[in-house]
Amino acid sequence: MGKSTLFNRLTRSRDALVADFPGLTRDRKYGTGEMFERDYLVIDTGGLSGEEVGIDQYMARQTLAAVAEADAMMFIVDGKQGLNAGDEFIAQQLRETGKPVFLIINKTDRVDPDQAAAEFYGLGFAEVYSIAAVHGRGVSSMMDDILGHFPADETSETLAVDENAEPSIRIAFVGRPNVGKSTLVNRILGEERVIAFDEPGTTRDSIFIPFERDGQPYTLIDTAGVRRRSRVNETIEKFSIIKTLDAIREAHVVIMLVDAHDSVTDQDAHLLGLILDAGKALVLAINKWDGLESDERDLIKHQLEIKLPFLDFAEKHFISALHGTGVGLLYKSIHAAYDSAMLKVPTSRLTRILENAVQMHQPPLVSGRRIKLRYAHQGGSNPFLIVIHGNQTDKVPPAYERYLINYFHKTLKLTGTQVKIEFKTGE
Ligand code: GDP
Repeated sequence: MGKSTLFNRLTRSRDALVADFPGLTRDRKYGTGEMFERDYLVIDTGGLSGEEVGIDQYMARQTLAAVAEADAMMFIVDGKQGLNAGDEFIAQQLRETGKPVFLIINKTDRVDPDQAAAEFYGLGFAEVYSIAAVHGRGVSSMMDDILGHFPADETSETLAVDENAEPSIRIAFVGRPNVGKSTLVNRILGEERVIAFDEPGTTRDSIFIPFERDGQPYTLIDTAGVRRRSRVNETIEKFSIIKTLDAIREAHVVIMLVDAHDSVTDQDAHLLGLILDAGKALVLAINKWDGLESDERDLIKHQLEIKLPFLDFAEKHFISALHGTGVGLLYKSIHAAYDSAMLKVPTSRLTRILENAVQMHQPPLVSGRRIKLRYAHQGGSNPFLIVIHGNQTDKVPPAYERYLINYFHKTLKLTGTQVKIEFKTGE
């Protein structure tokens, strides 16, 4: 059908991360994207055949779970093969959700798009788009139109503007089901003064819980309704990546929990990828550290180093949410990450650091001319964005960019936050 091709076009997927952990596309794959200055979230699914049996039935369940989470559906059909026996049935099912459905006729590159579309009119959808996902033809005008159906989300903009005025550090606890999020949240809230309960969040149904510790206000963004969830109905499906993404977006600092007993799973890696994409300050908590033998602990630490080498910017804590061990120490890292992420550095200082970095290690020559990096200024906070101006900056090799990132990171003594660099050519 071309779903994955379209997914990749619509999202900034972190190929490197995904490639390291096979099997991520098995169930549902989530990615964020931006077009026409609008942020959106795409869920790729196993799809529906219209006549589900066996593994298809499992995929259908995954697809319907995605449908339940989504605001709208892209129903992708194959324009080369034409109308399929199952299409009618799927159309009916999607219509029954009452959510907007956009019919997308893919693979129309070698056929007459209008003719291809004509065959599908009988499905009865008003919004029909002919595209060729492989070449990207028709994709951006389709997105322009589809995004126009939804009101612009004002929350993220308001939050971005308020960033400095906000005295409270917003923290989100994220992680797979059963890693111990609700245990940790309940422990933290049990010990601290909760100012108000269940204040509705600004998006969907994430809950904001303000609390105070040592005079410092925090706002906890509760992803899973952890304080109210009924144990009986607890299933994997209750774990909503969408809510998690909302929480990540609204947080200053994300605390990612992993279960020490499981090491790092594909799902952990995928979640981390989403946090990194969002560029948010991060603290890693390896939970359930109680009851492990010392050789088991050594093994887990070793595995973390191997599996998550790109996370060396983040502080790691080994905790027991159940017993409270190490939980108090999280705050120091939360503050360090927050301070780093929100740091403001004047242009003169950034430029001096850039000059030193370049002096120690010159950028390479490109067709006989050396890449010139002239000055740097800060382009944003959380993530800490450095804009570097110079000549031929589009030729800066990734290894050199990494060198600069590390250099800035070290010199500015940043912790818990990523440094992102944007190059601008001034020639
Ligand atoms: P959530 O789905 O991420 O909110 O996870 P829960 O907080 O519901 O925890 C899942 C299970 O792990 C529960 O049975 C908890 O008692 C258990 N658990 C949570 N934290 C710890 C911990 O630090 N140590 C141990 N041994 N078990 C824990």
